Amino acid sequence: MTAAAAELRVEGVTVRFAGLTALDEVSFTVAPGSIHALIGPNGAGKSTCFNVLSGVYRATGGSVRYDGRELTGLPPHRIAGLGIARTFQNIVLTAGTVADNLMLGRHGLTTAGFTSTALRLPKAVREQRRHRQRAYEIADFLGIAAHFDQPVGPLSYGDRKRVEIARALCMEPRLLLLDEPVAGMNPTERLAMAATVAAVRAELGISILIVEHDMGMVMRLADAVTVLDFGRRIADGTPESVQRDPEVIAAYLGR
Ligand code: ADP
Ligand code: MG
Repeated sequence: MTAAAAELRVEGVTVRFAGLTALDEVSFTVAPGSIHALIGPNGAGKSTCFNVLSGVYRATGGSVRYDGRELTGLPPHRIAGLGIARTFQNIVLTAGTVADNLMLGRHGLTTAGFTSTALRLPKAVREQRRHRQRAYEIADFLGIAAHFDQPVGPLSYGDRKRVEIARALCMEPRLLLLDEPVAGMNPTERLAMAATVAAVRAELGISILIVEHDMGMVMRLADAVTVLDFGRRIADGTPESVQRDPEVIAAYLGR
C-alpha cells in the first residue's frame, strides 16, 4: 500500500441524463478505514454514484474529493492511480485465467517499460515475478488460490465475483468500491462474502464503500449508511438510526 486510507467527500453531486435526474445534490463522507454502505431501491442512483466516483460518468454539478484532491473531471485511470478501485454490478472479467485477470489489476503498478518486458530483461522478469507473487497472496486471501492458474469461465458465480474483488485489490487501493458484491449469491455464500469484506478492511486497513440490498449484511458490516431514493439522499447515519428512519422504511416498503 502506498499511502493510508483517506477521507472521501461527496458534496452536492448531481447527475442528469436526458430528462432524468439520477443524482440530485447528493452529499456524504466516507471516513478513512470505514465500511460505508450506499443503499436504496432499484434505480435510486447507487451505480450512477459509483460511476461518478470512478470517473466513468462526469457529474453535472457538485464535487468529489479524495484525500483533499478534486476528482471531478479526472479520467478513470487517474482516479485509480489515486488509490480508488471498484467492482461492477455485473461481473466484468477478461478471458483467461484467474492469474491473467489479477495481473491486469497490477498493470498500473508496473514500472518496467513495454520494451524491457517484451525482451524479458532480468529487471522486468523479477518485477513480473513479484507482481505474480502478490497477486497469488491476494487470491489466497480471497479463497481462490486453488483456481489461480485455471480459466475464469467455468468458475462458480461466487468465485468469479471474488476474482473481480481480488483484481481490484491487486491495484493496492486505499478505497474499494463494491457494487452489490453478494447479488445472486445464496445465503451461505453471502455470509462468506461478508466475512471476506470485513477481513479486507481489518487486514488491509482500507476503506470500503459498498452498494448492498441485503439489509442484514448492511447491519452486520457497515459503520455508516447513506440511503438514496430517486436520486436524493433521504437518510445518512449509523445502521441502527437509518433502519428506524420512517422515510427509509417507506422507500423500501413503498415499492
Ligand atoms: P441503482 O444502481 O440505484 O439501481 P442506477 O444508478 O443504475 O440505480 O440508475 C439510476 C437512474 O439513472 C435510473 O433511472 C437509470 O435508469 C438511470 N440511468 C443510469 N445510467 C444511465 C445512463 N447511462 N443513461 C440514462 N439513464 C441512466
Ligand atoms: Mg445499481
